[in-house]
Amino acid sequence: MQYIPKSGVRFECQPECSACCRISGGYVYLTEEEARKIARFLQIGHKEFLNTFTREIDHKLALYDGEDEACVFLEDHQCLIYEVRPLQCRTFPFWPENLNNESSWQAVKELCPGIGHGRWYSPEEIGKILDLQK
Ligand code: SF4
Repeated sequence: MQYIPKSGVRFECQPECSACCRISGGYVYLTEEEARKIARFLQIGHKEFLNTFTREIDHKLALYDGEDEACVFLEDHQCLIYEVRPLQCRTFPFWPENLNNESSWQAVKELCPGIGHGRWYSPEEIGKILDLQK
């Protein structure tokens, strides 16, 4: 059972932040299909993309880190593949592990200045975002 705030959540990513792209020890996992999409976006071959930008972690495909453990596609707080970023990036901060319990949600609120601002996500909508990640 996940912890979803009963009153919903306001959330809007804040410019010049990129804190979630720089979580130390974190990995950006992606599917083969997402890898293909990103390769097309970068106008390189699928194999070249896999060899240059990905590795295997726990038998799953993940992006390499760039400098300072940040995502390899982060540059000056901008995501270079924003339009085709993986589901993991699209669903932040509504990750299952972030919504494990009230204290894990509190920790994410401290990391992400976008929580509490902008558009309102109802509990049902947050539930659907969680379902996408199953
Ligand atoms: S931590 Fe929050 S505000 Fe910062 S880049 Fe990530 S989603 Fe945006």
